[in-house]
Amino acid sequence: LYNQVQDLKGNIRVYCRVRPFLPRQSSSMSTVGHIDDGNIMIITPSKYGKGHKSFSFNKVFGPFATQEEVFSDTQPLIRSVLDGYNVCIFAYGQTGAGKTYTMSGPKELTEESFGVNYRALNDLFHISNQRKETFCYEIAVQMIEIYNEQVRDLLTNDGPQKRYPFVKILLLLFFIPLLVNTLDIHNSSQKGLAVPNANLVPVTSTTEVIELMNIGQKNRAVSATAMNDRSSRSHSCLTIHVQGRDLASGAVLRGCMHLVDLAGSERVNKSEAKGDRLKEAQHINKSLSALGDVISALAQKSSHIPYRNSKLTQLLQDSLGGQAKTLMFVHISPEADAISETLSTLKFAERVASV
Ligand code: ADP
Ligand code: MG
Repeated sequence: LYNQVQDLKGNIRVYCRVRPFLPRQSSSMSTVGHIDDGNIMIITPSKYGKGHKSFSFNKVFGPFATQEEVFSDTQPLIRSVLDGYNVCIFAYGQTGAGKTYTMSGPKELTEESFGVNYRALNDLFHISNQRKETFCYEIAVQMIEIYNEQVRDLLTNDGPQKRYPFVKILLLLFFIPLLVNTLDIHNSSQKGLAVPNANLVPVTSTTEVIELMNIGQKNRAVSATAMNDRSSRSHSCLTIHVQGRDLASGAVLRGCMHLVDLAGSERVNKSEAKGDRLKEAQHINKSLSALGDVISALAQKSSHIPYRNSKLTQLLQDSLGGQAKTLMFVHISPEADAISETLSTLKFAERVASV
């Protein structure tokens, strides 16, 4: 049923979300003018051709949209995983525009501020429970990070490190390279796992999920303190694997959903970036444009889809295109000094959305 509704709307959708001004910011002039259902008007300063620029998407969420509202428009897509479909949801935008807020929520989580990740899993548990007379579902998750084209497991067991905090500190100081366990991506591997060597953890309740996400966040933080804050310069991906067995016929359905918090899309000033920073920027540019190329090739029903150009698109290959459903949330900041990034974000998004 969910799929019938979805199919009418096409398999690639783009939603735009505008972040509100933050509490500390004086509510200076917003660059976002009018918003209605699927249209957004940006007020551009003279440098960019004074006046207005309008962009159209499947949906635009203004600064006052709640997490609940954002999720409810995403819900049908999420539910189609239980019918055996593959789904990808991306958060795109410059650092600070609200990607992590949409996917995970703010630092201080409350029930109302839970992001798409938590709500998605919660919803999957809820529906699978409703269907338990006819289907037996198993749900498992993986969490990985892609940094400089290397894939790392975020759900590694931190048992021994917990028991010996001193060892952990020593490791951090002297064996940082050992902590960075890079993994391979296998396409069409056994069990349909894109990263078969990353931990796949079965989950049955939201409490377990929250625990796992905390581990994932901690593992991300470990690398962040060791090598500067890199969360904005890496892609993080929560993958939910769903397997459902029809209790009457014994037939098995498999679906998977990738929830991806992408690296910040801002352009790095070429004259300033050097060394590691420049390398990171090049990797990010490469993978985000590879993603844009894949999605627009899919939207144009092109015969060649360039999946192999980045680790990110390789990872998502089975969930982009074909019967899979894709949703990109593009995030923009309302501040005047973000205007240049705002315009390039919206242009990228329009290219992705063009059919
Ligand atoms: P990003 O992940 O894109 O770098 P964040 O999600 O970390 O950006 O958002 C930057 C800041 O703005 C955070 O403090 C976050 O809590 C806040 N923020 C982002 N989006 C919203 C929103 N829709 N409503 C309220 N605060 C938000
Ligand atoms: Mg973030």
